[in-house]
Amino acid sequence: MALLEIRTYPDPILREVSVEVMQFDQALAALLDNMLETMYHEDGIGLAAPQVAVLQRVIVMDVSHDRSKPMALINPVIVEQEGEVVSEEGCLSVPEYRDKVTRSDFIQVQACDRTGKKFEFEADDLLAICIQHEMDHLDGTLFIDRISRLKRDMFKRRHKKRSRVGKDV
Ligand code: ZN
Repeated sequence: MALLEIRTYPDPILREVSVEVMQFDQALAALLDNMLETMYHEDGIGLAAPQVAVLQRVIVMDVSHDRSKPMALINPVIVEQEGEVVSEEGCLSVPEYRDKVTRSDFIQVQACDRTGKKFEFEADDLLAICIQHEMDHLDGTLFIDRISRLKRDMFKRRHKKRSRVGKDV
């Protein structure tokens, strides 16, 4: 297994739309293992393949307290959603920023496992939020796209200032 490099805002690869996985082979299994190792290493609860520069519809997660329930979703689709929940989100690709985002409270998801077998399940709470956050990555969307325009502008200004300082010194 190997740690993968996490791409961060404003890397343009984070804005690409990922393609469906067609082959459930050894390369996919290795990608999933490396993504999980990277996610645990970075202390994240979820990671999407585009965050490690792989433009495939693959996400890994673990929302359990003791970090013992790794999950992998391949080609995930939300088939039903209900309710609204607001919670503070962060992202490994948007370091040092957190903000409140509105998501569906309850979702029903269809996906494939690492062998290509289809399954369907219901999710709520943190898992539902995490799945929606990670699935956004597959379409090139970041959580900062879902906050108010005013806050997004503030985030961008702050980010610009920080990178300018970084370059100068
Ligand atoms: Zn993220």
